[in-house]
Amino acid sequence: MNTKSIWLKGLQSLLTSSVPQCLICGKHRQASSQLPSICVNCAAAIPWIVSPRCLKCGRHVGCPDCNRGGETSPIICNRSAVAYNSVMREMLGQYKYRGNERYSALLGLMLDRAYLILKEEREKEQRVQRSSPHSTISSFFQNKRAASGILWQADLLVPVPVSDSQLEERGFNQAERLADVVSQRRGIPQLPLLVRKHHTGKQSFKGRAERLADMKHAFAASPAMIELFPNWLGAMKPMDRPLQIIIIDDIYTTGSTLRACAEVIQQMTEAYRYDVEIYSLTWARS
Ligand SMILES: [Zn+2]
Ligand SMILES: [Zn+2]
Repeated sequence: MNTKSIWLKGLQSLLTSSVPQCLICGKHRQASSQLPSICVNCAAAIPWIVSPRCLKCGRHVGCPDCNRGGETSPIICNRSAVAYNSVMREMLGQYKYRGNERYSALLGLMLDRAYLILKEEREKEQRVQRSSPHSTISSFFQNKRAASGILWQADLLVPVPVSDSQLEERGFNQAERLADVVSQRRGIPQLPLLVRKHHTGKQSFKGRAERLADMKHAFAASPAMIELFPNWLGAMKPMDRPLQIIIIDDIYTTGSTLRACAEVIQQMTEAYRYDVEIYSLTWARS
């Protein structure tokens, strides 16, 4: 190697070391400003759901499940950060099944964007209700709050729990890690209110009816929360509105997991005579 090529090699390594390595493609490229752990190219390939087609479940395409009707849900609405395509499947695989924990900050940041979209939507609705001449009694409290200029904010984040065997296998609860990011960024507390009673098997191999039946009894109030939850409720400032709780998960497929969790949370809050509004937020929507 002559002096010139040594010099060029040195310069090249200096340049690549100053440009961060992308977590997804592994290349040294300019980092995305919104998601600093990945490059601009990988960030551009993210299928963000900015305005969902189905306002109920947050799906980006037409939604036969919600249109079917009949199925009552304790969840007001779901919002997801991205559409679950093959690129996102690979990303989730790295995180959830290959245990690459460096993805939790990235996916958490992406989830945070969905939180901001939900928050913005709720605030917009408050403004619409305030300006509506046909206010109902149920919107009275919301009007009062909107008039006082208080913006919409969730009171609590609840991650969907994993079973003990899943936790042992994976070493972490992916939903809890994602909720951590939103919790820290937005200053919203997180409580693991629920436990998963039995492992329901790989959901993706099951049909819709089978999944729904499976989920019915899959979740329960966590024994560790029997004292903690009423203490937390008691420490809340008096509110002129229902509690606003968001359930967090990595992916929304049929919504049966989230609905089953919401039912338990509803029972828990009603047991202490609190009204509750339950929302859900997932990283991806299939
Ligand atoms: Zn990249
Ligand atoms: Zn829908």
